[in-house]
Amino acid sequence: MNRQIKICHLYPDILNLYGDIGNIITLKKRLLLRGIDCTVQNISVKESLYVEDYDIFFIGGGQDFEQEILLEDLLVIKKPLIKKAVEENKTFLAICGGYQLLGNHYKTWDGVNLEFVGAIDINTIGDKKRMIGDYIFRCEDEKGLFDVVAFENHSGKTYISDNIKPLGTVIYGNGNNGIDRTEGVRYKNVFASYGHGPLLPKNPRLADLILKTSLKQKYGDWDLIELDDSLETKANNIMIEKIKYRIKK
Ligand code: GLN
Repeated sequence: MNRQIKICHLYPDILNLYGDIGNIITLKKRLLLRGIDCTVQNISVKESLYVEDYDIFFIGGGQDFEQEILLEDLLVIKKPLIKKAVEENKTFLAICGGYQLLGNHYKTWDGVNLEFVGAIDINTIGDKKRMIGDYIFRCEDEKGLFDVVAFENHSGKTYISDNIKPLGTVIYGNGNNGIDRTEGVRYKNVFASYGHGPLLPKNPRLADLILKTSLKQKYGDWDLIELDDSLETKANNIMIEKIKYRIKK
């Protein structure tokens, strides 16, 4: 059977900080290398969204200003559709600002209250002091624990409700809020993280976990042949060693 995964890139012209589109490039490449077809559709402000047409939704990061630009379209048009897609177990990857907007609301550092989608029970409060830098967090897949390395730059401190699992545990850096050592969220088939970089190229196990989740949801199985990730793993290890060296200094 020819399998195909359709990716919807939401607000690509507005939310794409630090090359977050690299996550889509990684997902697509890792599917094509396995003989699985992959299409990508950009959907932005005022463009119609038919969630049943897609398997994976991607939302990148953006500054407070950019999050405000898309707010009317998000709340008037996209909000019910995104909530429906999340509840119907569609796979999401949401990064930083894109992560925040899946939550209930975001109060920016200068006091602007942004009502967001409310698809996930999280809330974000901006702070004058930004959380910036390379960071490491520990995730888990069917083979066990693995360390993810990424770059964070956010003023928002996100607090997740008790009934929601974090994506990972912070080993070094801030993560959701620099207080409770949680990073991101996993809710149904949503993967959300503060990790820029982009996140996936140096973290192939996380990329494959997202792909397996979507393939399992669409086709009921998720056997993915192993790829030669020696370069990706080397990049991950180099960054982790650099960060650990800084900690020791
Ligand atoms: N504007 C949000 C914040 O500052 C998200 C930033 C981002 O996407 N890097 O927290």
